[in-house]
This record gives sequence, structure tokens and C-alpha cells, in this order.
Amino acid sequence: MEQIMIGTVFQPINWKAAYDMDFSLDCLYCGHPTLSGYHVEDERGKSKKVVVCGECFKVNGNYS
Ligand SMILES: [Zn+2]
Repeated sequence: MEQIMIGTVFQPINWKAAYDMDFSLDCLYCGHPTLSGYHVEDERGKSKKVVVCGECFKVNGNYS
């Protein structure tokens, strides 16, 4: 899989996503007031945490 970039549409199945926590932040793309954090893993087993909008499903950023 390609690197998960900011603005990419969330692909929960391809990324083996597991819900982690919610953030009280506005989406950079659509202004939706709640974002969710997911722990994701790529095909090489490298994991990271991404912040995803619950409305437009775009990746807003990473956290650790
Ligand atoms: Zn959004």
C-alpha cells in the first residue's frame, strides 16, 4: 500500500484499522466537528495512528 498521506480517504479494511479515540477538532476539509483516531497497519506491519473525519473520511493528520 502507498504511504498514508494527509487528505487520503480512509480505507479501514485495507489498513487493518482499529478505533482508538475521538478528538474534538474540526475537519480540515469539511469542517465536521468530531474526528476519530485509528490505529492502522500497512502491509509490512508498520503501524501508525491517523486522525480521520467521521463525515468525509479524509485523513486529517497523524498522532502518537
Ligand atoms: Zn471531513
